[in-house]
Amino acid sequence: MGIAVYQGVDGAYSQLVLEHFIRERGISANTLGVPSYRELVTALSSLRADFGVIPIENAIGGTVREAYDLLGEFDVAPVAEVLWRTDHRLLGVRGATLRDVREVLAHPLVIAECGKFLSGLEKARAIPCEDTGVAAREVARGGSPEVAALAPASAAAIYDLVELAGHCADHPATYSRFLIVRPRHGAHGEEIGGERALRRKTSIIFSVEERTGSLARCLGILAEAGINGDKLESKPYLGHGAERIFYVDFDGDVRDENVRRALVELRGACKTLAVLGSYDAHVGEPVGTSDAAVRPSLERVPERRSVEPIVPLVESPFPRVALPTKPGGTVLRVGNVRIGDGEFVIIAGPCSIESREQILETAREVQARGAVMLRGGAFKPRTSPYAFQGLGWEGVTLLAEAGRASGLPTVSEVMTTDQVARMAEHVDVLQIGARNMQNFDLLKAVGRAGRPVLLKRGLSATLDELLAAAEYVLAEGNPNVMLCERGIRTFEPTTRNTLDLSAVPVLRERSHLPVLVDPSHGVGVRRWIRPLCRAAKAVGAHGLLVEVHPNPAEAKSDKEQALTFEDFSAIVADLERIPVPDVTFA
Ligand code: PEP
Ligand code: MN
Repeated sequence: MGIAVYQGVDGAYSQLVLEHFIRERGISANTLGVPSYRELVTALSSLRADFGVIPIENAIGGTVREAYDLLGEFDVAPVAEVLWRTDHRLLGVRGATLRDVREVLAHPLVIAECGKFLSGLEKARAIPCEDTGVAAREVARGGSPEVAALAPASAAAIYDLVELAGHCADHPATYSRFLIVRPRHGAHGEEIGGERALRRKTSIIFSVEERTGSLARCLGILAEAGINGDKLESKPYLGHGAERIFYVDFDGDVRDENVRRALVELRGACKTLAVLGSYDAHVGEPVGTSDAAVRPSLERVPERRSVEPIVPLVESPFPRVALPTKPGGTVLRVGNVRIGDGEFVIIAGPCSIESREQILETAREVQARGAVMLRGGAFKPRTSPYAFQGLGWEGVTLLAEAGRASGLPTVSEVMTTDQVARMAEHVDVLQIGARNMQNFDLLKAVGRAGRPVLLKRGLSATLDELLAAAEYVLAEGNPNVMLCERGIRTFEPTTRNTLDLSAVPVLRERSHLPVLVDPSHGVGVRRWIRPLCRAAKAVGAHGLLVEVHPNPAEAKSDKEQALTFEDFSAIVADLERIPVPDVTFA
């Protein structure tokens, strides 16, 4: 039984990586958290631990120079590289909401990875922390709704925290590189699983005088030996005149003849050279779970409501919906997207999720062309029982995958109360369809689910009925509702429905909730959607919901109204020319 060390406490990414490595190689070892990288390499070089893990690079934040430098300084050798997908959630104490947050605790690398998300949290400042586990633990210990941590889903479970926001990293594919390291003169590689990979990598640090051609000469030596470089980064060598330090990783093993000879030559060409060692390269995509569910933040809010009467005594059938809590109206945050904040948002995707290829392609295309959120129905309310009913939970899984792949938050319809909790684990926004606008049990259930709600106007619902339906959701403690005009049933048969654009100013006057328009269902005919998109923006909607399909002729539902990718691009281009109007009512 060996001792494996990582920097941090329970819940740190390093711990996840180490446990993954131990599981994968079938090693028998106990993991132990130590306070710093320096103590980690000290424990290894003094043979107090058998192996450990250290992060060396992040896809967004760059090289962890301290780690490289320590590997050069101490008697430790790399064994294997692990690429780990980081999936940061903003975690807070139960009952906290995103709006409460004033301080975000996180590892400095995680702060670097989540720069865009953090800059969107106007009232909050980021506070660097030793590691992710410490950040989550401090939030739990402090118990304040104003303090949150950026950490993985697993930390939420360890410290009993809830998720206030997901998709926090600047890029959905971000990952970190870790090295499994061991004492150079102690345990042998075989004891921790030996050399497994066909592809080996080597890391070195060298310094050269800053002179024209000196770096090129060193790199030339590697190139001539047929060595493929993998990473190159530099920094000034402080206190050493005009010397610069270079961190280089390349393909190959120091025991390979070409590598050995190149290193001998390199030693002559540079001022200093440290060979950190050769190790198993990571094979394939980064590992690590990214879809683990975390209890959302609003789950406990109804309990709090019962002790804090927050409904103002006003004569209105929908007081929470009518009375703004903020002067500018409600701004919904879904990942990095803000709805109701002056930016016109476009939510796009197919009527139904039909296959993995279809939803992944659509997600990629609409993201590239200007959508900020991905829609897709998995449970479909169809007029005929013989029509395609949707892929159900399989569709939800595919939608979540497409959301992660594209970085787009997702929205999907729930039709029954028993779908709500599971759907809330996988999608970012719960849609209530037109046919369910007055399904009051369903409205109450989504009010407790802790996810924002996209509430569609019923086929023959008045605007006050729509607002009263929204009140059901708010009354359960969920303030995050967007209203959606999607056309109503009139005597006019030419269009599928009659898109009631007058709903937009009325709803904006009567409520602080964001208002979306869905011209796809409103008009039902592909070629008439584009002008109505322009009208929706001009009349003051906060955004659009449109149906887009890679091949409309083959769509399994609502094919007449499915836009092609080109149609979608044309709409986005039109909208760029239309300013967001100032909507005030005298
Ligand atoms: C949908 O968005 O695919 C849908 C079924 O919409 P509605 O509820 O507005 O008919
Ligand atoms: Mn549809």
